[in-house]
Amino acid sequence: MSTLTQTPMSLSLPLPIEGINPYQNALKQLDTAARYLELDPGLHEVLKYPQSELTVNFPVKMDNGTTRVFTGYRVKHNTSRGPSKGGIRYSPNASIDEIRALAMWMTWKCAIVNIPFGGAKGGVICDPRELSMNEKERLTRRYASEISIILGPNTDIPAPDMGTNPQIMAWIMDTYSMAQGRTIPAVVTGKPVAIGGSEGRNEATGRGIVCIAREAVKEMGLSLMGMKVAIQGFGNVGGIAALIFQEAGAKVVAVSDAFGGVYNPAGIDIPSIKHLMGQDGKLGECGLGERITPKQLLELPVDLLIPAAIENQITAENAGRIRAKMVIEGANGPTTPDADVILRDRGIILIPDVLANAGGVVVSYFEWVQDLQFFFWQEAEVIAKMEAILIRSYAEVSKMAQTQGIDMRLAAYLIGVKRVADATTIRGIYP
Ligand code: GLU
Repeated sequence: MSTLTQTPMSLSLPLPIEGINPYQNALKQLDTAARYLELDPGLHEVLKYPQSELTVNFPVKMDNGTTRVFTGYRVKHNTSRGPSKGGIRYSPNASIDEIRALAMWMTWKCAIVNIPFGGAKGGVICDPRELSMNEKERLTRRYASEISIILGPNTDIPAPDMGTNPQIMAWIMDTYSMAQGRTIPAVVTGKPVAIGGSEGRNEATGRGIVCIAREAVKEMGLSLMGMKVAIQGFGNVGGIAALIFQEAGAKVVAVSDAFGGVYNPAGIDIPSIKHLMGQDGKLGECGLGERITPKQLLELPVDLLIPAAIENQITAENAGRIRAKMVIEGANGPTTPDADVILRDRGIILIPDVLANAGGVVVSYFEWVQDLQFFFWQEAEVIAKMEAILIRSYAEVSKMAQTQGIDMRLAAYLIGVKRVADATTIRGIYP
């Protein structure tokens, strides 16, 4: 039921609608960096394509006795710097092009923070909200089994992403381990701490965003104290970032989930939200502010805007109306290349996803190291080591932006793409 295809160099990529296809956006970002770096055209060509793509169509027994076939993917973009690393998302909108883009972004992200991984991503087309716990377990175990031929602690290491969580990582670890006949915790990160997960991994992406935000405002001679923050997305990234922003003294004035949100210029008490949300858990119903849509949130007059939901939220259509002083990308790919140009021309600073949300994969790296050594660290140590890596990476990207007179995304790409290109060149093309 599975096909493993090595992408041939002659493959002509189908590139749908301008600005909306995340893979096309990722290729545009790479093109810009390649031009600046005067990258060898052959090397540029290598980096455009995922190294391998696995598509699986697999059956799952549903609770009502019927059988449904689901489609899943695991795409490895590049492994020049180490085994591939990247999350798995469960989403009705997952597509091969989305997963290709996300895999490529993982390659740059790992290179920018200089951890020894390449990039990969996986996804299953499904709506996790419509699946029971048992259905989710059967789907996860079958998907894990189908892609297990390319997984492994030394080859490809998944983690959570949109629609997945530590429990799902536990099932993946167990499924892989059962087939191997021994427990192999390092095959996946973002696991519960009880089975080899790392302290601090669950909060790492949100905490990393606040750390990067602190560095960015410090450069402007400011602090997070009293800063007005709007956060789109209230999952593992946006929800935890909101809590930590509040702890850091910032004023979270707007939050939203997929259905809607609230705006209160006086600030929203984030810990109260959970108690006040409606029965079905919709954020817009918490009553802590004026109801707004997720799109309206993006246009509020704030200091920091954190798009932490999905791709393609800030586009050429609304970039002219963004009133935030700074955009810090919590999600992967929330801003299109056309919108990047508009924000830059309007003097709005943007800290790109590949740097801003890297805290997650940095602590995944720590989890993998701890699993390989069977030696576990305290939370304070994890946080301190993560922040050290993020602060150093921020400083490198910021210095590149200033010395070259370019924006932060391009600066991050110049560092990340160059590290991957150098690794590829030094290793040479096999055979
Ligand atoms: N899915 C997360 C990301 O996009 C985490 C990946 C990982 O920890 O491997 O960065």
